Amino acid sequence: MSLRPSPLDDLLPKRTGSLPDVAVIGAGLSGVTAARALRAAGYPVTVFEKSRGPGGRMATRRTETGDTFDHGAQYFTARDALFLEQVRWWMDAGVVAEWHGVIGTLEHGRVTRSEREQVRYVGVPSMGSGVREYAETLHTRYEVRVERVEREGSAWRLTTESGERLGPFDVVVVAVPAPQAVPLLAGAPELAARAATVNMEPCQAVMARFEARVTLELDGAFVHDSPLSWIARDASKPGRAEGERWVLHGSPEASREYLESAPVVVAARWVESFAQATGLEVRPVETVVHRWRYALPSPALEETALFDASMGIGACGDWCGGPRVEGAFLSGVALARRLASVL
Ligand SMILES: Cc1cc2nc3c(=O)[nH]c(=O)nc-3n(C[C@H](O)[C@H](O)[C@H](O)COP(=O)(O)OP(=O)(O)OC[C@H]3O[C@@H](n4cnc5c(N)ncnc54)[C@H](O)[C@@H]3O)c2cc1C
Repeated sequence: MSLRPSPLDDLLPKRTGSLPDVAVIGAGLSGVTAARALRAAGYPVTVFEKSRGPGGRMATRRTETGDTFDHGAQYFTARDALFLEQVRWWMDAGVVAEWHGVIGTLEHGRVTRSEREQVRYVGVPSMGSGVREYAETLHTRYEVRVERVEREGSAWRLTTESGERLGPFDVVVVAVPAPQAVPLLAGAPELAARAATVNMEPCQAVMARFEARVTLELDGAFVHDSPLSWIARDASKPGRAEGERWVLHGSPEASREYLESAPVVVAARWVESFAQATGLEVRPVETVVHRWRYALPSPALEETALFDASMGIGACGDWCGGPRVEGAFLSGVALARRLASVL
């Protein structure tokens, strides 16, 4: 646990007195970032998350055999000064580290090592550890799927999948992928229309465990001319258990083609493509498939966050401003700043 304040704790001026009650829907990085910054400034914030834990697409799956795989985001980079500061804070807290895996490209068995050396970061021991570090300091309710956000006088009421009514809240922040944000933004039609313009590509992910070592000289590879776009050796990341566990990500095109296929079909096709791309004879002892219906925005909106100050509702996420982990963080920051500057 880090002792110095995090970059989000000093992001906004501190407020006292009666402040608007804020509901954040979604405990992925963008929602948790906005919530932590607002909470640190004094706003009462409650986060609602449909899953059992935080992190969203920065996810790690534990299979029935106890194997773990980062099956969503693979690593992240940092260019923005504030995000770099955030990454350093997480590193000091021991929940993020650099990944020194050997990265390259693969094309029909031809292996090319990447020359451009880029710093790649991962959560430790799992991809979402940084998000969890923040989420644990927040008032978060898990396994609550919000279905509707409705106006009641000058406030908002949320209705969950189980029919529970939550609120009233003065402000609602919708921090979920764009297609899932659209119905939740129905009370603010202009924002809903903006979110509806964002296309998000799917990704079929296969987690494969091998008994023998896969004798590839790379730990992570962008795959060309294949149904796969990326493969990674999970155990090459810091803080992971030993073992020959690989994550195979389908390209947007192949993931779309196989979106409704049975998991067994996807697993077989992805493993076959893995063998073709690496030029190795590989036979996994276990495969698990996860379908990310909304993996990556294509493209993201120019606005870093959406906010309607007159109604007290907004949206953030990797589909606002810039894609990926860094974009999700910066979108959460932008939303918190907008909200604090007007309310
Ligand atoms: C396969 C894959 C590979 C990726 N690879 C990389 C990579 O290598 N590098 C990189 O930087 N980025 C990568 N990304 C993207 C990165 O994971 C995302 O940009 C980032 O995690 C998005 O954060 P977010 O907060 O915007 O959304 P999310 O992480 O999607 O968080 C949204 C949260 O809202 C919850 N939610 C949704 N609807 C509701 C509801 N109705 N009620 C309550 N809760 C709800 C969800 O459960 C989720 O926890 C990848 C993503 C995927 C899927």
